[in-house]
Amino acid sequence: MRCRSASAGRSESDMLRPEFAAALAKAGEAHTLAREEIVLLLGAEGEEAAALFRAADQVRAAHLGPEVHLRAIIEFSNHCARNCLYCGLRRDNRRIRRYRMTPQEILAAAHRARQGGYRSIVLQSGEDPGFALDDLARVVKRIKETLDVAVTLSLGDRSRDDYRRLRDAGADRYLLKHETADPALFARLRPGTTLESRLERLRWLQELGYQVGAGSIVGLPGQTCETLAADILLLQSIGVEMAGIGPFIPHPDTPLGSSPPGSTDTTLKVLAVTRLLLPHTHLPATTALAVLDPDGRRRALAAGANVVMPDVTPAPYRQHYAIYPGRSRPQGEGEASFARWERELRAIGRQVGTGYGHILRRGSPRGS
Ligand code: SAH
Ligand code: SF4
Repeated sequence: MRCRSASAGRSESDMLRPEFAAALAKAGEAHTLAREEIVLLLGAEGEEAAALFRAADQVRAAHLGPEVHLRAIIEFSNHCARNCLYCGLRRDNRRIRRYRMTPQEILAAAHRARQGGYRSIVLQSGEDPGFALDDLARVVKRIKETLDVAVTLSLGDRSRDDYRRLRDAGADRYLLKHETADPALFARLRPGTTLESRLERLRWLQELGYQVGAGSIVGLPGQTCETLAADILLLQSIGVEMAGIGPFIPHPDTPLGSSPPGSTDTTLKVLAVTRLLLPHTHLPATTALAVLDPDGRRRALAAGANVVMPDVTPAPYRQHYAIYPGRSRPQGEGEASFARWERELRAIGRQVGTGYGHILRRGSPRGS
């Protein structure tokens, strides 16, 4: 998807259009834009795209510094009761080998990650009613009691009471991407559910005291540039602490298997504009970007991102967490290695974040 009409009519090497430069300056200073201005920025090509990425990088540096937070992700179950049209874990996909790690296996994986250097663990799964909530709450409690790490959950839609019990067990954060701000597209792609109920859950999570993450998929069939702008404005109106923004990657065993993938460039532009409007929010260089483009994570880190979520799911499970193809260890076997990430980040002038990587208090400049 290109967010620019042919009638804009300038070659990619041209200087910045005056209206583009004005919107970019406004975003960098006031961190607010109207929807048309966001669409204008998303239409950046050539010099304009380079200027957009630079501006996002500057806002990231000014508000968050050089630190990149590493969050080790453990994908502990690929069972899913939902049937999202884009996802390989969907209920009707019979070609996937299902697994569910035991609480002991999850604890062991978390221990290994902590020993390797990680201070932040993400537990993710399909919407798996077969994993007892009591067991899950015990796993969270045990990790919090024994490991001195931040715990993020990403388990999809659950009841308010479930969220409360997991929060009581010690979970710090919850990732629940809104996926798309277009209610009709949301309902079509996630049968049996609505954008409204997703947003209601995000509110519950905030009320329960979680640090909350939402985010979207870029390049879904039927999406428009206006929708991408609405995604960004929605993140801003929710006031998220984290936002995962990744390209759509078609999975052959889903109804969207023959749709084209999202574009890396468009995803980077959505990420960059999000950084301009949400200067304090944690924005990962997503795995999906790394799968589409071997250089995708580095490019994202240079366009506003300040988080990487290495996959530390143990073998033999990780290959079966096939949300989309190509996911298993995008950086090869070194993907899970904290030490390797330290080296790679140093090589691009960044450093691993110390501590848990909680969000800085909104509105407070860095260091105050
Ligand atoms: N079941 C939970 C968490 C696991 S799915 C949930 O749905 O919230 C994690 C994320 O994978 C989803 O939020 C979605 O944004 C992303 N995802 C799923 N299929 C994808 C695909 N084909 N391309 C890109 N991202 C995808
Ligand atoms: Fe299940 Fe999440 Fe995939 Fe939807 S996106 S099918 S809820 S794992």
